Amino acid sequence: MFVECYSYDDVLLLPGYSQILPKDCDITTTLCDGIKLNVPIISAAMDTVTEEKLAIAIALEGGAGVIHRNLSPEEQARQAGAVKRYLNWVIDAPKTVGGDAKVKDVKAVMSRFNVSGLPVLDSGGRLMGIITGRDLRFCRDDELMVTDVMTRNPVVEEGEPSVSSAREKFDKHRIEKLPVVDSDGRLTGLITVKDMEKHALYPKAATDKSGRLIVGAAVSPQDYNVRMPLLKSMKIDFVVLDTSHGDSKNVMEAVRDIKEKFGVPVIGGNVATKEGTRRLIEAGADAVKVGIGPGSICTTRVVAGIGVPQFTAVWDCAEEAAKKGIPIIADGGIKFSGDITKAIGAGADLVMIGNLFAGLKEAPGSEIIFDGRIYKEYRGMGSLGAIADGSGDRYQIGKDETPVPEGIEGRVPYRGELKSYLNQLGSGLKKGMGYCGCKNIAELKAYRKFVKISAAGLRESHAHDITITQEAPNYSRS
Ligand code: IMP
Repeated sequence: MFVECYSYDDVLLLPGYSQILPKDCDITTTLCDGIKLNVPIISAAMDTVTEEKLAIAIALEGGAGVIHRNLSPEEQARQAGAVKRYLNWVIDAPKTVGGDAKVKDVKAVMSRFNVSGLPVLDSGGRLMGIITGRDLRFCRDDELMVTDVMTRNPVVEEGEPSVSSAREKFDKHRIEKLPVVDSDGRLTGLITVKDMEKHALYPKAATDKSGRLIVGAAVSPQDYNVRMPLLKSMKIDFVVLDTSHGDSKNVMEAVRDIKEKFGVPVIGGNVATKEGTRRLIEAGADAVKVGIGPGSICTTRVVAGIGVPQFTAVWDCAEEAAKKGIPIIADGGIKFSGDITKAIGAGADLVMIGNLFAGLKEAPGSEIIFDGRIYKEYRGMGSLGAIADGSGDRYQIGKDETPVPEGIEGRVPYRGELKSYLNQLGSGLKKGMGYCGCKNIAELKAYRKFVKISAAGLRESHAHDITITQEAPNYSRS
């Protein structure tokens, strides 16, 4: 068998008739069933790319981060928890008073904990009412019972609170505190208007239905039994089975087992063929990650002599996944925003990025000054340094074996803050959609009109016959 394959640089999308402006294109996508992103980009599970800071920054702007696993299970889960709590708008254990308290007790609790409102509970933990500064304003007698002064039958959220319904209640009833109760009327949380306002600062944020930021974490067939209970307790949204060869028996078994035991969405990978995609989907993967060898730090193709150029890999795997409606993540090899348009044009639902994010301010690692310019460290998880820190099992390297790396260590230019850089990537994608007349990701996935270009075509595509004197925020050839 011999097949001709293409990488992103071999092709361009064919421009087409358009009735849409880039700014009006919708780039929301589905990561997997039940998880929506407002930007079709997730950050790689690499120790020079995604830890808590970057995961928060990307989710606030509509994407999601996958926390790497060169961390102890406890530390990885702690970081995932920090992301989930960042936009915390439901106080899980609010200060309360009992129905037998007096006004003076209420005032003491309010001043000690600096809070302006307290749910009032009966001895079974059920909500009787709420007492706020407003109720106390004209109360002169500290010996009165709280039940004589509190607001009875307050407006509440029942069950799992939702941002939209909470916001509606604040607006409609002009209240500042909204208790959350279960179906028996027991208090489970408290929402304050101030915390809701924090939410409003990030209109693009990718959140779960309770308004918490979306975050994922990497696990392996060897460590998922230890990591999953901790990650699940932090309400992780999804996990990525982080392996270099997803079309393997132990990966399929791990996908099945995680789904069965923990019920958390699983992204399986990496694969580069239709058959591998089909097998992962049959094992129960909720999304499939595609890419064998396209990563900028990856030497798998030259060390092992295997792989599939990424454009063809995405095209083939997406054709297979479409039969079952399973999302495809194009992982690795994104050098410019145009590659994102090409990946989705080839059928992917979103992309995973390492290199372009490693230089961001929020990425782990410090800035390095070299030759008068600022860089940040970036290394493959199969590089000597990362293997020494624990990631050898991704490449089937045992703890006591001499490592045979499939990745390298290096530096990438400093790229500033994530927010503006991600905006460049998303806007580049929207420009491509505008040129093709595709108003949303589904239309771009269905477009499937490409031209193959020659080496001369690629040279013509890049800036040429000029010395660049002013760097653009979305283009460099370093
Ligand atoms: P990049 O964005 O082109 O740098 O690709 C990042 C992707 O490369 C990651 O999401 C991984 O799938 C993959 N990767 C990470 N480390 C290595 C490695 O050491 N060897 C091969 N592939 C790697």
